[in-house]
Amino acid sequence: MSPTWVPVPDHSEFPLHSLPFGVIDPGDGARIVVAIGDHALDMRALAGAGLLDVEPGVAPALSSNDLNAYLSLGREAWGAVRGVITGLLMTGEAEIRDAGALLDPVEAVHLLPFVPGDFVDGYSSLEHATTMGRILRPEGEPLLPNWRHMPVAYRGTPSTVMVSGSPVRRPRGQVLGPDGMPEHRETAALDFELEVGFVVGPGNGIGRPIDIDDTADHIFGVVLVNDWSARDFQKWEGRPLGPNIAKSFATSVSPWVIPLDALTTAMIPSRPQSPQPLEYLRPSGDWGLDLDLGVDLGTAASAPMVVSRTSMRGVYWTFAQQLAHLTVNGAALRPGDLISSGTISGKAAGSKGCLIEATLDGARPITLPSGETRSYLEDGDTVVLRGSAPAAGIGLGEVVGTVLPAHD
Ligand code: CA
Repeated sequence: MSPTWVPVPDHSEFPLHSLPFGVIDPGDGARIVVAIGDHALDMRALAGAGLLDVEPGVAPALSSNDLNAYLSLGREAWGAVRGVITGLLMTGEAEIRDAGALLDPVEAVHLLPFVPGDFVDGYSSLEHATTMGRILRPEGEPLLPNWRHMPVAYRGTPSTVMVSGSPVRRPRGQVLGPDGMPEHRETAALDFELEVGFVVGPGNGIGRPIDIDDTADHIFGVVLVNDWSARDFQKWEGRPLGPNIAKSFATSVSPWVIPLDALTTAMIPSRPQSPQPLEYLRPSGDWGLDLDLGVDLGTAASAPMVVSRTSMRGVYWTFAQQLAHLTVNGAALRPGDLISSGTISGKAAGSKGCLIEATLDGARPITLPSGETRSYLEDGDTVVLRGSAPAAGIGLGEVVGTVLPAHD
């Protein structure tokens, strides 16, 4: 017997034990929703019917237009809400129908579910960091000496974090021309980056580091992230500092935030680290994530083709370590901040999380079913990132983006 009275298709990404949060506009304004199968539960309608009075602040927070107030409430409130929604979806058909809270969101517009005040992009995949080191610094050791001692990162651009489906305009910027002189032009090396990010719940105050064993209290859930990149800008500007306009023009995230509470059976021992990191980076629990990940690439002339299949299982640095390191100096994170893994790649060909790796910076272009080749993305190309947690029996949704030509 189905555990819920809502019809949920077999193999749905969003069964009863997932309950991801998003924000949609069905045509009459934004509201927070929780996905169940192909439907969505309208949180404002539930709050209006008095069904979310489980903890102080929950009903007003879930009546908002984004998740930030709800994220600030913390794990106890999230657990109480999860319990109430689960109960309503099992035995509360009359209450939900009376509240008019069950939506069929097929035509709804997804909005960015949370408003990040900060976006941090990590570099957590050993395979990605190694290959990038070989491409960007062929003369030296692929990994810099700090890499195995801390989860290095750069600060991203929260103002251009966008929800899946938002078009991506090819950026103009500065590149080093063939004559050794800088040029102002559109990128000729537009890339995607397959990443998984987490959304911060309650923040810490300035001067109050988050202990690594308390990090789960500060993580609400997980999204897929496409950190679009202009590799020609990056190669020229990233000396000696990290990416700036090479990545600040667009970052796309999946529309549903998957609660960490839905991923408990996907948490596995993390990859062994050598050398052992400093004490503040040693968690006691399991922070590996058993997530299958993939990338499809389609063009105007070619149906989508799988260009990468990989996994988060072997990622070197974990979310807990990223959070502990980001706050070890007393820096504050706030509800809604987005912290991403950085590009996730495997070792094998066909498991790379970006084109600069998959094509070795254009040396080995990908051939599509239409016969076209790609070193980097062309205008009109569509990239789809996918993810799932097989052990938890849920999906992460997808991140879709189509490349538009540069502005004149
Ligand atoms: Ca990135």
